[in-house]
Amino acid sequence: MKLDVNALRYLAKDDFRVLTAVEMGMRNHEIVPAELVDRIARLKHGGTYKVLRNLLKNKLVHHDATKYDGYRLTYLGYDFLAIKTLVNRGVFASVGRQIGVGKESDIFEVATEDGTVLAMKLHRLGRTSFRAVKSKRDYLRHRRSFNWLYLSRLAALKEFAFMKALGDHGFPVPAAVDCNRHCVIMSLVQGYPLVQVKELQNPDDVFDTILGLIVRLAEHGLIHCDFNEFNIMIDDDEKITVIDFPQMVSVSHRNAQMFFDRDIECIYKFFNKRFNLTSEKNEEQAGSESDDEGNSRPSFLSVKKTAGSLDKELAASGYTRKEQVEMDKYIEEDAERHDSSSDDDDDDDDNDKDDSAEPDCNLASRDSDVPGTFSEENETSCSSEKRLESPS
Ligand code: ADP
Ligand code: MG
Repeated sequence: MKLDVNALRYLAKDDFRVLTAVEMGMRNHEIVPAELVDRIARLKHGGTYKVLRNLLKNKLVHHDATKYDGYRLTYLGYDFLAIKTLVNRGVFASVGRQIGVGKESDIFEVATEDGTVLAMKLHRLGRTSFRAVKSKRDYLRHRRSFNWLYLSRLAALKEFAFMKALGDHGFPVPAAVDCNRHCVIMSLVQGYPLVQVKELQNPDDVFDTILGLIVRLAEHGLIHCDFNEFNIMIDDDEKITVIDFPQMVSVSHRNAQMFFDRDIECIYKFFNKRFNLTSEKNEEQAGSESDDEGNSRPSFLSVKKTAGSLDKELAASGYTRKEQVEMDKYIEEDAERHDSSSDDDDDDDDNDKDDSAEPDCNLASRDSDVPGTFSEENETSCSSEKRLESPS
């Protein structure tokens, strides 16, 4: 999705006031009645309506008059609220080029006042599954709306909490800087996704390091669940950094063993195909459990969970149990959606380009952590001080 940050520069205080009012209205309305936006924003002389037209022109809100005259935020509108909050907080000062398009995210460079370049990940849950959902109206019949903005905020919150905790425990992950709404700010990783690398000087070492990381994560109580060549960055010195954490689960998850094996299998497959590496190792090890030297394919059952339980620690962080349950539910439903609709997934490719194909958003009843009063700095913060005190 295009992020024309220029528009941000031209938006006035009133624009943000009204945009924030739409966001607040979405806590209990899928489509926020224009009068409610006006009541929350409290602009003089009917100013709200003029501002709404401007926001609509800039695609920051979507107009829906099917039931009544109302508005909802678009992802772009949500982007602007998060960016403005983070800029006001001094986290960064400008937005640069797009450096990544993930399955359900867009990644941009941002720069701080002193010129340090960081990475900004904007979560976009629903982007890939929306087409499938559209062609499977059944889902919509059972679940009236998908809370995409809310789920994207949860994904960001989870990613930030996990990245911070993993970094604190010495895992090679980007440094977690801050997060707001659906947006995570982290250090910029030098290097490339492993999938782009055609040759390695020491493929054996890299392979062992990566497998070792999966095992060490499990020893700490966690499974990445999307541990593959797209989520492993590697630099010119063949140093590894792991990214992308919203789907991580605890080793006590009922499908933990399957997720663990799948992560391991992805790495074996990739190294085998790309670097011809594991043929020898693999065959030697086929079907074998780990030996005393830990040389064979790591098995979930033989992982010793000795290094303290990061999963429990995380449960005590800003990412609460309730949020975890909701996120897990989404991940499972998403997997089901993909399974049951992979056939018709690509028959309406163009649909996600126009605004009408943007997923509906609803922040209904999910705001217990958001202050109820209007403020321009209204934000759901997960900065490290507020959210991640270590459990005592
Ligand atoms: P998704 O969850 O959508 O898969 P990722 O977190 O995997 O998103 O990021 C998508 C891509 O963006 C990555 O493959 C990588 O190229 C780039 N990227 C993500 N985070 C960073 C970062 N901190 N530094 C540099 N590039 C990054
Ligand atoms: Mg990824």
